[in-house]
Amino acid sequence: MLDIKFVRENPDLVKENIKKKFQDHKLHLVDEVLEEDKEMRASQQKGDELRAERKKISKEIGLLMKQGKKEEAEKVKEKVAQIAKELVDLEEKENQLRESVRDKMLQIPNIIDPSVPIGKDDSENVEVQRFGEPIVPDYEIPYHADIIKSVNGMDKEAAGRTSGEGFYFLLGDIARLHEAMISCARDFMIDHGFTYAIPPFMIHSDVVTGVMSFPEMQAMMYKIEGEDLYLIGTSEHSMIGKFKGQILTKEELPVHMTSYSPCFRKEGGSHGLEERGLYRVHQFEKQEMIVICEPEESMEWYEKMWKLTVDLFRSWDVPVRQLECCSGDLADLKVKSCDIEAWSPRQKKYFEVGSCSNLGDAQARRLQIRTKGEKGTYFLHTLNNTVVASPRGLIALIENNYQEDGSILIPKVLQTYMGGKEKITKV
Ligand code: AMP
Repeated sequence: MLDIKFVRENPDLVKENIKKKFQDHKLHLVDEVLEEDKEMRASQQKGDELRAERKKISKEIGLLMKQGKKEEAEKVKEKVAQIAKELVDLEEKENQLRESVRDKMLQIPNIIDPSVPIGKDDSENVEVQRFGEPIVPDYEIPYHADIIKSVNGMDKEAAGRTSGEGFYFLLGDIARLHEAMISCARDFMIDHGFTYAIPPFMIHSDVVTGVMSFPEMQAMMYKIEGEDLYLIGTSEHSMIGKFKGQILTKEELPVHMTSYSPCFRKEGGSHGLEERGLYRVHQFEKQEMIVICEPEESMEWYEKMWKLTVDLFRSWDVPVRQLECCSGDLADLKVKSCDIEAWSPRQKKYFEVGSCSNLGDAQARRLQIRTKGEKGTYFLHTLNNTVVASPRGLIALIENNYQEDGSILIPKVLQTYMGGKEKITKV
């Protein structure tokens, strides 16, 4: 959510930003917000005037009473009652306007960074850099679900019976490889100075609306019936929510933490679930990183954060690339975002395994996450990035380490998390 003062002072810039995000249907919100804000301030001013008048009249009443002019005092009291009624009406109007302004402000997208490429949707995202040579073996790589099944590594049919489409059982060495990957990612982040956390996997609705836009919430979040609780879509939600209403001291900054959680997603968007495989499912697991920092430091953190994901995947010998998200592909709260994509030797193209975002002060403003400076309190910046998400990380590992004889080589760094096992063989 933008600062209303910023919208007042820069209406054209806010409109230009809406256009850059191809959301012209929202342009009317800016004028409406400004009109309602003006009305609200006029109403506040009228309220102040009426309160001052009431104070003055109350003094007058006191004086008249002292002088024994009871009748005159009664007449003036009527005026006070009239003012009180007017103030109640004004307050009601103000509350309605305040709610309407907030509702509209929540729909106006955050100002994107000038470096963000302009484009309508993800087809216009821009490749920035590649890391590692894409592997193209001279034998065919089967579909990941078939490889995993050939080593008895999953049972989607059973998950269909227990939970329906979009769920899976991971089994045996594949389940172990998944754990190894997450554990290795956790230790990698701890080695880089991040504090480890396991957060709550359910959060209240005010945290949900604090970390994402309403359309995102509709498409992603599962609500617990009869409770003010939602299953988290990523641990970023609880980890940013952890700081709701806090004024952080300079010593506490920057907050940099790595968290583990299962992630639950309705996947109500246009993509749909992957029927046989594990690419898009309702429940997956993720090692995440979040940063809360001074505004002027957030772009530096953004650069550090996506590079950490690249380094982790390269330590497993998986070729990756950085893809910059264009304006139309950025969620409304984001200032800048990029995806880390892993090479698929089967499809001979890259696919998304992680996403790094700088949200500026959008989440901090909604959740009131601040610090104190010389001129008073101000909002901090928040960022998040995937360290590794599984099963997608697993798909990347399996495809890039698949051997002609049907076995899967385990990268050296992960072997220590698997009791020294060097490969998973076909059964
Ligand atoms: P996001 O939090 O939406 O930026 O997603 C971060 C990462 O989580 C993605 O890059 C994927 O690796 C993974 N992911 C997101 N949604 C799903 C899903 N429905 N199924 C499997 N993995 C997912």
